[in-house]
Amino acid sequence: MFGELHTHIIMDGVNYKDAVAIHRQGPCEAVVRERLEAYRSAGIAFIRDGGDHMGVSMLARALAPEYGIKYLSPSHGIHRKGLYGAIVGHAFEDEYSMKALIDSAAKDGADFIKLMASGILDFSEFGALSPGPLPKREIVSFVKHAHSLGLAVMVHVNGDATVRDCIEAGADSIEHGFYMHRGTLDLFRGDDAPVWVPTVAVTDALMGCGRFDEENLSRIHASQMANIRRALEIGANVALGSDCGAYRLPHPEGLGREYRCFRQAGEGINDIDGMLERGEALIRERFAERRNIRRP
Ligand SMILES: [Zn+2]
Repeated sequence: MFGELHTHIIMDGVNYKDAVAIHRQGPCEAVVRERLEAYRSAGIAFIRDGGDHMGVSMLARALAPEYGIKYLSPSHGIHRKGLYGAIVGHAFEDEYSMKALIDSAAKDGADFIKLMASGILDFSEFGALSPGPLPKREIVSFVKHAHSLGLAVMVHVNGDATVRDCIEAGADSIEHGFYMHRGTLDLFRGDDAPVWVPTVAVTDALMGCGRFDEENLSRIHASQMANIRRALEIGANVALGSDCGAYRLPHPEGLGREYRCFRQAGEGINDIDGMLERGEALIRERFAERRNIRRP
């Protein structure tokens, strides 16, 4: 069974505000236990959380061994004030406060560091993202500081140019990565390359829900599926993470959906499972064992 390499245990797949409100007085153990039990009974034994600003993923990590789960958390995500990321993390305003947030995650005992390098998708317009991205020099100094503490970096990023910036900066995994150009996929090849976690379950789950323009949504989804196919064709580092907890992705269903999307995108390609196992092994090395962390 594969691991779920991008989840947010704080969210419920239904309503973000309600899900977060439960933890207002501190992380709610009953809810966390319920979700861990759901993962356990689905046979999922390795989880990497994308973090949150309320300590919920850290509580999950502490309880996970009781469920036979190896659980990794970055504590909180880190974003630039005014840009995307407040829903799962804390904001910096300058280089000094950026490094202080990395230090505070490390002090909390984070397994790795999570950066928000770009905005999120605007589902009503193909190619559009919410405000951002970070300038390359900021991404470079972020990754450098995290690596200097011996911690791998998981980067939330969309848009071809910013994905490239992150890869060049030494990011260990690229999350989402919508709108990459074909040539950028070549940069995910080899044991020293980053791992791409496309989270295509997000668009797959949104299609047909009626909340967004279906034509745009299916175009966005198709472009990510085509890139997954290309990545599988060239043997790029890819791994399964669904952004579980996001809208219409209740725990633990995201992983199965992400896997089905990969099978669909890669129809006719041999050994998709083997490629996914290799991608997961790379994630495990860098994020759990803190080995083979990338160099820019
Ligand atoms: Zn996420």
